[in-house]
Amino acid sequence: MSDPTIIDGKKVSKQVQEQAAQRVEKIKQATGVTPCLVTVLVGSDPASITYTQMKRKRCEAVGMKSMKVELPTETTTDQLLAKIKELGDDPAIHGILLQHPVPSQIDERAAFEAIPASKDVDGVTIASFGAMAFDLPGFGCATPAGICDLIDAYDIDCTGKHAVVIGRSPILGKPMAMMLLARHATVTICHSRTVDLPSVVKQGDIVVAAVGIPNFVKGDWLKEGAIVLDAGYNPGNVGDCDYESCFPKSSMITPVPGGVGPTTIAALINQTSIGAARQLGLDPNNL
Ligand code: NAP
Repeated sequence: MSDPTIIDGKKVSKQVQEQAAQRVEKIKQATGVTPCLVTVLVGSDPASITYTQMKRKRCEAVGMKSMKVELPTETTTDQLLAKIKELGDDPAIHGILLQHPVPSQIDERAAFEAIPASKDVDGVTIASFGAMAFDLPGFGCATPAGICDLIDAYDIDCTGKHAVVIGRSPILGKPMAMMLLARHATVTICHSRTVDLPSVVKQGDIVVAAVGIPNFVKGDWLKEGAIVLDAGYNPGNVGDCDYESCFPKSSMITPVPGGVGPTTIAALINQTSIGAARQLGLDPNNL
């Protein structure tokens, strides 16, 4: 078999951000308002600090404003909910990103649910999940939405394909499965209690790995010619798929880093530009 196509997440994320930049410029021209994303960080986890900085930088790169709210590690759920409500009520803010994970004393689900659906540009609320699952306007969860940008950019036709999603988290595996379903794939969702995972993965024309275990999916689990989309991002820039053994079995594959990773922030930025357009009474599809 010939070498697989290596899916270039950096290139796709650049294209998505260019679209967002054009939309932002048109919003500014039409309304005089600059779209704004606020990042909310609770605590001082170094990786979370880096992620929120990266998100704000990318906002600015497309001409949007960014704001940061940093709260101490000992913040209570009530204090965080009050801050998110204040940001939700502020008409100058068009998108709210609460950096995950929050410290353990906080009810993270309650905090996510405090984000108004119109500003949930990271797609983390139950309302956003429901809208996405019902094919209604709303925001997809950013990482699976970024994976869909890769699917679209590489003209991957999901219709009738068997997609196997490994992982069922509310921010990745579950929304990914719904998005693949909307693209007419036949979807199987696997998790830690799945029996004989390799034999289930073997049925996948498309395999999405969202497990959080480095090099977990092995090449000999794959069907010949499978499309491998690795959402994993483990310490040391290691994915959830064992790239070396998966590469020769696949027809398309995302590397780590440089595959799924860059598209998550691009999706967030793009959705913020769409959210701003809607909140300002413009049709994002005509911008
Ligand atoms: P998570 O919340 O920990 O969920 C992991 C999922 O994997 C769970 O559903 C779990 O099953 C399943 N799992 C664990 N061990 C398994 C096993 N032995 N066999 C089969 N399934 C197993 O993780 P997440 O937040 O979804 O993240 C998954 C990966 O994506 C991580 O590597 C993370 O770093 C990466 N990620 C990347 C981005 C990005 O921007 N690119 C964003 C978010 C996450 P149960 O439900 O049964 O426990």
